[in-house]
Amino acid sequence: MIDFRYSYTVEVNELMSKKKSPKRRFIAGAICPRCSEMDKIVNYKLDEQSYRECVACGFKDKIRLQSTPQELNTRVTDRSIVAESPIKIIFPSSK
Ligand SMILES: [Zn+2]
Repeated sequence: MIDFRYSYTVEVNELMSKKKSPKRRFIAGAICPRCSEMDKIVNYKLDEQSYRECVACGFKDKIRLQSTPQELNTRVTDRSIVAESPIKIIFPSSK
């Protein structure tokens, strides 16, 4: 027998966690200035502002985009496009 209450709870939790936290991306190689842990920094956008946050110690910082905001954004965007674009395998017409 399926426990409907359980599946309902899971769905609600998923919805809430999605609402609560915007898209977060780990910054590869980033070191937390507080606890010095590597690869624990996530980057996310909230209200047109970029933030970084350490998942290990809870350190939070607002990222100020100044003269060269393109580099990081472009890299992240490119990666997501590659991940989401459908893969087409084209076989060469051989005779
Ligand atoms: Zn930290």
